[in-house]
Amino acid sequence: MRVTEKDVQDFWKYMAKKYDFKVVKKGDSDEMKIVGQALDQMNIQKKKEFLEQYTTTVIFGGWRCVYVPFEIGKGSHAQLIHQIATCVHECQHVVQADREVAQQIKYLTSDASRAYYEADAYRATMEMHWYFTGRILSPKSLANGLKSYSIGKADRRIAEKHLIIASKVVKRGGVITGTSKVAIRWWNRRKKVTSFRNVSLIPLKVA
Ligand SMILES: [Zn+2]
Repeated sequence: MRVTEKDVQDFWKYMAKKYDFKVVKKGDSDEMKIVGQALDQMNIQKKKEFLEQYTTTVIFGGWRCVYVPFEIGKGSHAQLIHQIATCVHECQHVVQADREVAQQIKYLTSDASRAYYEADAYRATMEMHWYFTGRILSPKSLANGLKSYSIGKADRRIAEKHLIIASKVVKRGGVITGTSKVAIRWWNRRKKVTSFRNVSLIPLKVA
């Protein structure tokens, strides 16, 4: 499916309103330098990588921001797909934080928790990527990417297993993540897609 600059910008606006956060362009803002410095000192992420490559979500008290290192809607088609999948990934972090008050603290202080939250959000990345390209992102590559979040080998393996199971469902047309369902509904409406269905899991009834 082809997407345009305007599609991607409208999509981010819709999701930001729906999940109630502000989108902030990462740059030289003092606020971002402080967050980068803190992550660096906690050995979670190098400040330079954090500022230039990664999208970061901060949901803490009334602070609800998603910091993006790119210009939304600008770039190659592959980059636009990446921006859409990133948006849904970050929305999933917003949902995690809203569901569990301690999410941000656990994310920052425990490798195992960080791996768990990232695997949950990467499932959304995988679902969106599949929706647009019909290809499954490799669970191994996604899990290996967690090295950049200072997640050790054992926790990366657990994340990988989680993503392998998710990939099997995704390949059969199942969408598990709530934020992906919301996103796919929006894109189906926007592009008048009728061939793609959200498949929900039906709970098993034990007699
Ligand atoms: Zn993440």
